[in-house]
Amino acid sequence: MTTKQLYDQFLKYFTPEELFSPAAYKKYKHLGDYFFLSRLDKRLIETLLWIREKKGQKMTINNWLWGGRFDERGVRDTSTHMVKARAKANDAWLSAHALSMGVDYDIEGETAAQHRQWLKSIANELPHPIRLERKFSGKPITWVHLDVCDDPRSPKVYQFDV
Ligand SMILES: [Zn+2]
Repeated sequence: MTTKQLYDQFLKYFTPEELFSPAAYKKYKHLGDYFFLSRLDKRLIETLLWIREKKGQKMTINNWLWGGRFDERGVRDTSTHMVKARAKANDAWLSAHALSMGVDYDIEGETAAQHRQWLKSIANELPHPIRLERKFSGKPITWVHLDVCDDPRSPKVYQFDV
């Protein structure tokens, strides 16, 4: 599959607004949808597309385009609250979201815990290694954080607590 074929297929299911902040979308939208996808780790695009097609269920990342409250579930750029707060505190941040390597999403018909379990069960089929956040301060996370940070010391589907 060429990059263009990959992007065209991905755009059947996802829009750039779901993956970027309102400010980033506004600033760069004149450059077109491919521009935004070119700013994402290709492994992330391939993995999200693979999951979307395998499951056949709707996945929701950012929903600000449709009036929802989520605008930091995709790429976190310098206009977003979370990056601004770290910059202000002089805190270096290598979040997968800031590196265009990770997203948070919900998937229709499954809880986040069920979905993480499914991803673990089909680990061998996944196009790339992934990491999943499991618990936050001891409580199961109710959305799916998936990123493609690839550390060879970790299993192919690596669940970690934050
Ligand atoms: Zn996340």
